[in-house]
Amino acid sequence: MKRLQGIGASSGYGHAKSLVLEKPLFSPDVATSYQPKKQRELLTAALTKTEADLNRLEDITKTKVSPAAAEVFVAHLLMLSDPSLTGHMTQLIDQGHDALYAVIDAQTTFYNLFANMDDAYMKERAQDILDVTNRLATYIDGKIPNDLALINEPVVLIAHDLGPSDTAVLNPEFIKAFVTEIGGRTSHTAIIARSLEIPAVVGCENATQEIQTGQIVVVDGSNGEVAAQPDAAYLAAFDQKAKSYQEAQTRLTAFTTQDTLTKDGKHVELASNIGSIDELEKAVERATHGVGLFRTELLFLSASSEPTEAQQVSIYERAVELAAPHQVIFRTLDIGGDKVVPYLNLPQEDNPFLGVRGIRLNLQEQVLFRTQLRALLQASAKGPLRIMFPMIATLDELQQAKAVLLEEAEKLQAEGKPVGTYEVGVMIEIPAAAVAADMLAPHVDFFSIGTNDLIQYTMAADRMNQGVKHLYQAYHPAVIRLIAMTIDAAHKFGKWTGMCGSMAGELEATKLLLALGLDEFSVSIASLLEMRAHIASIDTSSLIGLKEKIVTATSTQEILDLLQ
Ligand code: PEP
Ligand code: MG
Repeated sequence: MKRLQGIGASSGYGHAKSLVLEKPLFSPDVATSYQPKKQRELLTAALTKTEADLNRLEDITKTKVSPAAAEVFVAHLLMLSDPSLTGHMTQLIDQGHDALYAVIDAQTTFYNLFANMDDAYMKERAQDILDVTNRLATYIDGKIPNDLALINEPVVLIAHDLGPSDTAVLNPEFIKAFVTEIGGRTSHTAIIARSLEIPAVVGCENATQEIQTGQIVVVDGSNGEVAAQPDAAYLAAFDQKAKSYQEAQTRLTAFTTQDTLTKDGKHVELASNIGSIDELEKAVERATHGVGLFRTELLFLSASSEPTEAQQVSIYERAVELAAPHQVIFRTLDIGGDKVVPYLNLPQEDNPFLGVRGIRLNLQEQVLFRTQLRALLQASAKGPLRIMFPMIATLDELQQAKAVLLEEAEKLQAEGKPVGTYEVGVMIEIPAAAVAADMLAPHVDFFSIGTNDLIQYTMAADRMNQGVKHLYQAYHPAVIRLIAMTIDAAHKFGKWTGMCGSMAGELEATKLLLALGLDEFSVSIASLLEMRAHIASIDTSSLIGLKEKIVTATSTQEILDLLQ
């Protein structure tokens, strides 16, 4: 048995054979002494298998994700049948090279060809060349490609890293858990795992070396423990914990109630964070009070090309209808940081979390932004909705964003397209916005505090970097004071403040946040029932006087002690 420790990023227990994801590495032979007939046969067999895979991937993605997301495989199929690509390979084989050499040579040649084109669309095809030829080379090498979307037996995935776009296509039916070597609890990969309710451990160093494909692995997504080839005693204890967890989950279904009430009967607004219509359906089943954060960029991350205006309208309309009579807060695209959308071909930055992210990108890439705003405004005709701008640092950005929104609303009206009612809010996730919240408040309808970022920017501690985990402190007095300032500033102007960062779903934070006067909690769907049950155990009379003690506390420990 081998035991590893990482960070519990998504609760739950996973137990299955492991699948270690490795980057394909090929070492082709340069010799020219191969028999062309045999090598041609190898190539043909690999082409046939690759074509079958791509057809299957297209079908599965079309039904499980979206037709737009499936288009990438149509492009791959076209590439595979392109005579210039296959011709390049057969020519090399006829010169005496082996099939692997021929594929890798074609990969380099065609990758460079596309990567050096000026046209952005053609440049994107370079990545497709890599994908298709890697698949071919893997088959020729006698191996089987790892297709996350094609996995149809229970596995625990082990990877150095999974990007948010890899995670978004995982099927919880078969992916029993995943373990990555890097990442933090508030990385977007972890956030998506919680949305999909897949147990996950991140920051588990050397997992890809310590664990081999096919070994039995058990994962405790709550405390970050991973064990490969567990012995009988460990497994029995693990199964017992998994059983108790399942029983607790079942007991929580009693809290699928329409209202969220404290022990003394006070209503608390409890909404959900979602990234797709599927998740909203689950949230509605758990009686969510609307959506406090729709991470719309996740729609873009799980697609292979930019969703069109019409596609966006239909998703946003559906969300408005599903959530009614409650409302949805649609956050405009928060791309950048760890959320990279490959097909948008945005320039790489040295410090992406401090770069062109959120509203900064919205204002720079106005076609993208305006298309989304038009779609949201059209969806507002189905029912009132809320639009929220991410990563606001200055009043000027908010005013620019609002001006663009107004322009698009006027254009739509001029086109005879109805626009309904909508409210405008901002995320408070940059310390500058929290400190200047009283300057922003008169210009918005609401705030939503994004603690995932607010903590990292306040403490200058990257939310993905385990090396500074000790400084990523939600309960540091500086963070708590910024939260208090934001809520007070909103209330001074008759506005409300929600919280959609992960802190909103941490049980130990609930009393503190209620004491500070938070008006809405928006949590991942996995935490919804647990939070409702927890709130039902709180008597608000126990909160009297707590705020003063909290905002005058001088250390993280003092705040944690107050909450005990
Ligand atoms: C946050 O920063 O707290 C937040 C909710 O946004 P995201 O996690 O998507 O950055
Ligand atoms: Mg954020």
